[in-house]
Amino acid sequence: MKRLRQLSLPVYMLICCSVLPLNSWFDTSPSQSKLASRRLVLVLDGVPYETIAELKAEGHFNRFKLPSRMISTFPSLTNPSMVEILHHDDSPGYEDHFYDRERNRLLGTIQDRLQGQKFIAGTFRQTFDYHADAFKGALGYVAAPIGTATLAQIDLMELRHAFRESDAPLFVGYIGETDSLAHLGGKEHLKTFLQTVDRTMEELIAEAAASGGHLEVEMFSDHGNRYDTYKNVKLNDALAEAGFVTEKTVKDERSVVLPKHGLVGASMLFTQPQNRARVAEVGAATTGVDFAVYRSDENTIELVSRRGRARLLRNGERFKYEDLGGDPLKLATIIETMKATGVIKADGFASADDWFAATREHSYVDPLRRLFDGFTKHIKTLADVIVSYEDGYLLGSPMLTYLAEMRATHGNLLRGETEGFAMSTRQELPPSVRGYELNQLFTLDQRTKVHGHFSGNGHCQLGPALAQHVLQSARTNSQP
Ligand SMILES: [Zn+2]
Repeated sequence: MKRLRQLSLPVYMLICCSVLPLNSWFDTSPSQSKLASRRLVLVLDGVPYETIAELKAEGHFNRFKLPSRMISTFPSLTNPSMVEILHHDDSPGYEDHFYDRERNRLLGTIQDRLQGQKFIAGTFRQTFDYHADAFKGALGYVAAPIGTATLAQIDLMELRHAFRESDAPLFVGYIGETDSLAHLGGKEHLKTFLQTVDRTMEELIAEAAASGGHLEVEMFSDHGNRYDTYKNVKLNDALAEAGFVTEKTVKDERSVVLPKHGLVGASMLFTQPQNRARVAEVGAATTGVDFAVYRSDENTIELVSRRGRARLLRNGERFKYEDLGGDPLKLATIIETMKATGVIKADGFASADDWFAATREHSYVDPLRRLFDGFTKHIKTLADVIVSYEDGYLLGSPMLTYLAEMRATHGNLLRGETEGFAMSTRQELPPSVRGYELNQLFTLDQRTKVHGHFSGNGHCQLGPALAQHVLQSARTNSQP
């Protein structure tokens, strides 16, 4: 395993050099006559609020007002969160390897991940003015963390180049390598890169001013990332012991489909409806699981955990929490206050806004709306059961487990994995924002991508070929 990693580093450096357009090394002068007032929105995948707040306190991001907590969806993953923020059409799956109920099969292979056609085309990714091409993002996992850090720098250089080439009044650029850096490099690597982002934004703002224009910069991330050493949850074993069969299709009453893509803090399970309660119970009893949830009808979610049970009810945009013993979401004190202040009515329901205001500082931020959204919005094939892991536990792709040691992850309902950030040079933001509010605050609906700039177009195919090769040999070696 170590040898493979050593081997992959030179291979990967070669790929980097082969995909980097030579001119970006010399790309220091801004293109002419950009006199207008412009806005750059930079999407930094997976940067946690805590890390930005720390950098800000250390004196970085001086031109920006105080950062806001960006409250991600549940599960706190890129696809549902970006769909919510960008108001994009629903994503086929919670992750890019996903279960399609209509076709009754798992879709989205590693090959798809490496091909822009499937990874980018038709998704929210295509609506960005800048997005790195697909295989480079995947490559960040091969020679981590040095390789990931290098790729992040290349991504940022190319984004800067694309911004200078464009004259769109609102330019929205996306960097995915920040998420990989958090996962594989941890806090220090991510902070180092973010300081480069800070300097790059300073440069762009200064360039705009020097040419008589004006540039405002806004930034956000789609979810948090919690730094820790992670243990794997043995969910497959628990399901097998309970008599279920984890497989690629729902064949019969014993089938459970459990897609494993990244290495994340929540798992989505698909099974026949009558199995939901049992699968949730088996999940909830497994070490490292915080709770499991399933819908018993359109407006009811059952929550099962080792601490106890709860029933969540929805009536339009109003929600109610029924503690069935053990108060698993630890809401008792909050609910007392909400009753005292009259925001919880006689029927036990409170509005989505009141729940949000009351739970902003809670370990589970805005839990009721987010749990319902997890079963009703942003995704085409919605899960039958969702299992949320305790901090410090994850489950995901066996190949990634082999390739990389996780130093941070996201996906669960808790704060560290949930809270991304939003920050602006032109406006003060509230202490926390929900994804759909961010869309308005940053007027993301005004983005008008005319010519998407995808890095690396037109370069030789050596990079993708080598990446395929490295991933393939990793897979072959990992077979027992
Ligand atoms: Zn991630």
